[in-house]
Amino acid sequence: MSRIAYVNGRFVPKSQAVVHIEDRGYQLADAVYEVWALFDGKLADPEGHFARLERSLSELRIDMPMSRAALTAVLRETVRRNRIREGLVYLQVSRGVARRDHAFPTDPVPPAVIVTVSRVDRAATEARAAAGVAVITTPENRWGRCDIKTVGLLPNALAKQKAREAGAVEAWFVDELGLVTEGASSNAWILDAEGTLRTRDTQANILRGVTRLSLIDVAREAGLKVDERPFTPQEAAQAKEAFITGAGTLVLPVVKVDGHPVGDGRVGPVATKLRRLYIERARATAI
Ligand code: PLP
Repeated sequence: MSRIAYVNGRFVPKSQAVVHIEDRGYQLADAVYEVWALFDGKLADPEGHFARLERSLSELRIDMPMSRAALTAVLRETVRRNRIREGLVYLQVSRGVARRDHAFPTDPVPPAVIVTVSRVDRAATEARAAAGVAVITTPENRWGRCDIKTVGLLPNALAKQKAREAGAVEAWFVDELGLVTEGASSNAWILDAEGTLRTRDTQANILRGVTRLSLIDVAREAGLKVDERPFTPQEAAQAKEAFITGAGTLVLPVVKVDGHPVGDGRVGPVATKLRRLYIERARATAI
């Protein structure tokens, strides 16, 4: 159980951690967030997540609430106070608190910042990865700036609920051309029939997943061919393997798409190896 949250400059018991009702994140989803995997108390893929945070904020014209160094110290201190070694660190930065109005506050307000930490049971997640998971597909219905990591996640939440009700763990959005964009909270990959790893290019309206980017490196270093090219759900069902990536899921094998088995319906060797290599690298480079 996570017990301490950081809220606007203070460390408070989570049960007393509250934000103002006129926080623009709460009222207008005018906020961005980041999630780091935590390995042995350290932040994984730090550079990628900080760079994306800065970009998300800059696209929305919200100031970085503090320097990277200060923010790193806040994240670490929240981790330390919660005594969590393996887990996830969540950061949210909103435009701040102001009388409700769609346009930005005319008098500048400071961004509002919260940080929470949650524990992950690595043994349980390893068991889930070894068994593989099912995904469903759902029509893409999100806004045109999914490259910005905003808290406006209602379509993602609805898609995830649809997946859960279908006995799956993730929903892949499919665009009007019939191509998979990404998952509700992960990027989507296949190992196609030719043995090439494929994941959607970032020119498309998707989140530039930090795990995705690291894994492209890891896969190439391991001698695999990676092609940033979209695929259809049919191609996924005919693929040798499939998996999803994200700070929460790391590299998670997918064995079923819309009820159709992927490959022989079992977790394949490539996804298994990539998961191991990614985790090794993320642990070694965490700060
Ligand atoms: N795509 C979406 C929509 C996400 O919400 C996430 C993670 O939360 C990802 C992809 C994976 O991104 P990352 O690897 O940076 O966690």
